[in-house]
Amino acid sequence: MKKEQQEKKIVRILFSVWKYIVFFLLISFVVTCSMLLFFDGMDVPEEIARANSLITFVNIIFLSFIFSLLDSIRRKYKVERPLKQILDATHQITEGDFRVRIEHGDSFGGKNEFDVIIENLNKMAEELSGIETLRTDFIANVSHELKTPLSVIHSYATMLQNTELPSHKRMEYAKTITEASRRLSDLITNILKLSKLENQQIYPDTQKYNLSEQLCECLLGFENIWEKKGLEIKTDIDEDVMVKADAELLTLVWNNLFSNAMKFTEDNGKVVVALKAEDEFVLVRVSDDGCGISPEIGQHIFEKFYQGDKSHSMQGNGLGLALVKRVIDIMGGEIFVESALGRGSTFIVKLRRESSATI
Ligand code: ADP
Repeated sequence: MKKEQQEKKIVRILFSVWKYIVFFLLISFVVTCSMLLFFDGMDVPEEIARANSLITFVNIIFLSFIFSLLDSIRRKYKVERPLKQILDATHQITEGDFRVRIEHGDSFGGKNEFDVIIENLNKMAEELSGIETLRTDFIANVSHELKTPLSVIHSYATMLQNTELPSHKRMEYAKTITEASRRLSDLITNILKLSKLENQQIYPDTQKYNLSEQLCECLLGFENIWEKKGLEIKTDIDEDVMVKADAELLTLVWNNLFSNAMKFTEDNGKVVVALKAEDEFVLVRVSDDGCGISPEIGQHIFEKFYQGDKSHSMQGNGLGLALVKRVIDIMGGEIFVESALGRGSTFIVKLRRESSATI
């Protein structure tokens, strides 16, 4: 195989050299004939004309050779080398190696097309390696999140097989298994939702509806939790504020924000939900006086699987705010966080407002 390739290469080189020779000879022949005709018209003795023609012929061959040599050196550096680098890089990328980068400086006389292709190729490889890192991180995170409840289920189910287990212990283990399987199911539901949102498989069903009512309904769904923790719930909700959005997707947002506010607030703490309508926008504020978020953690809270406070990890999977952010982006809104460690947090959602209360 290698021998065959080498033979092909030699044939290619010979063919290109042969092309050059034919080219030189043709040019030299044409110029020499022109010279002969020229001398013929000038009445120059025949020997001199012949000698001059020969000299011209040789000179032209020599000059053509020099220029061709210079041109082939130029081609080697300006065309063949970058082309080979590009081919090697694309080959590496197709093999799945996204670390490849082509080094290039500014060529003499500014950027040429090859420089632009190389720059774009480097950018593409960088993007692809970023996506690859996200993908591998995602798989690692999902596996980790799946493993924890699965190992809980496995060990408690093994303990349940003990026939001498007292009934209250049996009950306790069964509850733990139920809780772990609920976590598994929540995790899978969230992953599927997020993946659908990210792949634009969910088409928002936008309708004009009453946001004030929706916030109150969602909040009421947490009554059990706030009563259990003895939380004080305060609302400051403008009445009949209308928005044009996908109500189901926004329910997901409010549920996640309320759930976090109550989860990260100590017993007997306080949670405030406010809705204010401005000229063009509505602002929803969900505040708590819980543990708060440090600036370092705050930078990552909207990332998938990020959990700032691992002590609450049994109650979450770090997907809630990633989902919230994605939904808000799809709705064309904005979300901000104001928080300081130990001084509670406020999540602010800004959405476009619909003017009238009539539907
Ligand atoms: P989870 O709640 O499952 O951990 P989220 O995506 O909802 O995941 O939140 C990501 C992280 O953001 C949390 O682990 C926590 O560190 C931080 N966070 C979110 N909401 C609050 C809040 N109200 N108070 C303090 N920290 C919060």
